[in-house]
Amino acid sequence: MSEAETAPAIGRRGLMLVLSSPSGAGKTTISRALLAGDEALSMSVSATTRAPRPGEVDGRDYHFLDVAAFHRMVEAGEFLEHARVFSNFYGTPRGPVEAVLARGGDVLFDIDWQGTQQLAQNARADLVSVFILPPSLEELHRRLSGRGQDSAEVIAERMAKAGDEMSHWPEYDYIVVNREVEHSVAQVRAILAAERLKRARQVGLAPFVNRLRGLDRDSGG
Ligand code: 5GP
Repeated sequence: MSEAETAPAIGRRGLMLVLSSPSGAGKTTISRALLAGDEALSMSVSATTRAPRPGEVDGRDYHFLDVAAFHRMVEAGEFLEHARVFSNFYGTPRGPVEAVLARGGDVLFDIDWQGTQQLAQNARADLVSVFILPPSLEELHRRLSGRGQDSAEVIAERMAKAGDEMSHWPEYDYIVVNREVEHSVAQVRAILAAERLKRARQVGLAPFVNRLRGLDRDSGG
């Protein structure tokens, strides 16, 4: 057998990559680009009580639930984290995330600062958090109006909340200012690549290095 076939395998613990930002800063676009080029990364599909926007698909963009069904899931402990955002409830179903992590995959989350705090309390070692900032308040408004999905009232509510959202930037591991989406995607990819290589996330390094050092030669192989 060749050396490659007999070499001890290096595995990896999955990580949880959180992207947070004020609504409209571009994290949905960045998330889609990250997922498109990376088979080891899966999106966590949240549950929400808000109404679907035009074009949103149940089970793909969100699991759209009524308030009673959402609270039943809370009571049953089926959320990894959950929070009230604007006037709706949002939560991360626990099962799919745990399944991906268990097979060494990574999970991408589009959740707010409240959810990120809960994940930091419960799973700090597996969490990598990135806060995305808009380049200016004017640009944020332009992007919120430009997507043409929300009423003027909803846009005004989101602009009013943006300052509060952004005040949580110091709680995040990384900060990306989204001036140009391609560049921001490259930056988040670089964060993910480096985090995957962290020593603590790689499993089986000791036997691999022992083999490199010739310390296991007496095993008859
Ligand atoms: P939107 O209604 O625009 O899709 O999302 C509104 C906000 O809720 C965004 O900041 C988004 O990150 C956040 N959000 C979406 N899903 C979840 C979730 O499962 N948990 C938490 N804590 N926030 C979420």
